[in-house]
Amino acid sequence: MPKLKHLLGIRDLSAETIHMLYELADRFYEVLQQPTRKAPALTGSTVALLFFESSTRTKLSFELAAKRLGADVLNFSAAGSSLAKGETLLDTALNILAMGVDAFVIRHQGVGTAHFLAQRLPVPVINAGDGTHEHPTQALLDTYTLRRYFGYLQGLTLTIIGDLFHSRVALSHLHLAPKVGLHLRLCAPPSLVPPTWYNLGFPIYHNVDSAIRGADALLVLRMQKERQKQPPIASWEEYARHYQVRPEHLSPHQVLLHPGPINWGVELHPALIQAPNSRILDQVTHGVAIRMAVLYALLRG
Ligand code: ASP
Repeated sequence: MPKLKHLLGIRDLSAETIHMLYELADRFYEVLQQPTRKAPALTGSTVALLFFESSTRTKLSFELAAKRLGADVLNFSAAGSSLAKGETLLDTALNILAMGVDAFVIRHQGVGTAHFLAQRLPVPVINAGDGTHEHPTQALLDTYTLRRYFGYLQGLTLTIIGDLFHSRVALSHLHLAPKVGLHLRLCAPPSLVPPTWYNLGFPIYHNVDSAIRGADALLVLRMQKERQKQPPIASWEEYARHYQVRPEHLSPHQVLLHPGPINWGVELHPALIQAPNSRILDQVTHGVAIRMAVLYALLRG
């Protein structure tokens, strides 16, 4: 298997690499169940986190993953940095590199920012979300959660419901599903489906009941209001009336996922907060193991 140089998108990964990452995550998941929770395989390495957009789960779990592996972590935040004085992103990254950094994790509103840095830096770059493009570790941890729950992925049906148009999570899943044998169904109002997606061969629904019926799992997406230039639907109440996932939609064996943050009352009915079939917090737990796997594969693999 060729060495993984960067993690920029699921699009570039082979099925073999994806399975290797799941297997590494299994090993790190076991480590995280031990009292010390540490596997100091990256002692002496330094990981820089460059987050230009808000984040709770992704940023904290990359930080924790690096620390569980024994690495040092540098946390850059754009507010208060020399970017305000006109320094470019590349200069900023080169200066951080000069301090002795072995990998960068970047989240940025610009599509292709991680690719831009990867072409110019001599160390691994991990895409933690680039605008509406990709969010590879989210798709890996979502499918890893299903793999842990069902024991396999091949042949499972996953329905993704929500703002497909602005979601980088959805795009990473479009690339991932065929590589691991998942059947993907997509569901959104017509104004939130990118027109080119009708030609990709995935069934597209505009009705929640039929999209969910018979599926093994459901991944519900947030309305990405910060990226919507003008509201794509009449009102959020209108969206919730037709596309909100409610307790009566789910049968007991169907797994409920959401990448977070959740807008309860919009895409998900508040009664689902305690739903027994929700694996939403497991996704967060598994995110640490997946990110440990990615850091380890890039820095030592
Ligand atoms: N946390 C995910 C992302 O950064 C999903 C979301 O924000 O709704 O893309």
